[in-house]
Amino acid sequence: MSGRFVLLGAPGAGKGTQAKRVCTRLGVEHLSTGDLLRHAVRTGSPAGKKAKGYMDAGKLVPDEVVFSVLFERLDDGLDGFLLDGFPRNRVQAEELDRRLDAAGTPLDAVVDIDVPDEHLLGRITGRRVCKVCGNVHHVEFMRPRVEGVCDVCGGELQQRSDDRAEVVGQRLAVYREQTAPLQAYYADRGLLATVDGDRDADAITDDLLAALGEHSTEGR
Ligand code: ADP
Ligand code: ZN
Repeated sequence: MSGRFVLLGAPGAGKGTQAKRVCTRLGVEHLSTGDLLRHAVRTGSPAGKKAKGYMDAGKLVPDEVVFSVLFERLDDGLDGFLLDGFPRNRVQAEELDRRLDAAGTPLDAVVDIDVPDEHLLGRITGRRVCKVCGNVHHVEFMRPRVEGVCDVCGGELQQRSDDRAEVVGQRLAVYREQTAPLQAYYADRGLLATVDGDRDADAITDDLLAALGEHSTEGR
């Protein structure tokens, strides 16, 4: 099964966790601009140097910087991918459409993971990420078997620097102003489905697989 998909949703909606599960099942590439940018920051690349201050402040990284890290990857995998954390504003959505249209490989579906605003803050501030493998736990909702230790690889869990309460308010404000309007952008193009993200993780994965499966390019 293959296809070109976008996963929308607020910070803390569970995009990263769900994207990993769904991509494994569908065999499509998981492209997270947050992960690509954090990797750029860690390796000290020019894009990483430009991105760091914006990320620490909970602001959007300038479009050109995001394009540089994403499109070098996307250009070799136009067949099957799921974008997580991109697009985040209208300029990014239009640039994505332009590139995919030029290649004759438009998007197949966009799914929004919907979580009520009042649950987002606690989801983000309780998130703990494995230093070694990137697996995501939550101190309350997805507790590791041993506190502070990754279930998958035994690595040390840590809080992402932009998951602190001081920065999260800014990230949620940016989401509401710039990213949430993309729901209408994709609904107008007949691409949008919505999944209730306020349930246990397995139920959400099932719904996502169903929503994406309907639009997959299997057998086409
Ligand atoms: P979350 O979805 O939980 O906010 P991400 O890992 O997707 O986390 O993003 C972390 C940060 O990386 C964002 O706050 C922003 O600074 C930057 N970033 C990620 N994707 C984009 C993008 N498409 N455009 C601009 N900035 C981005
Ligand atoms: Zn781990």
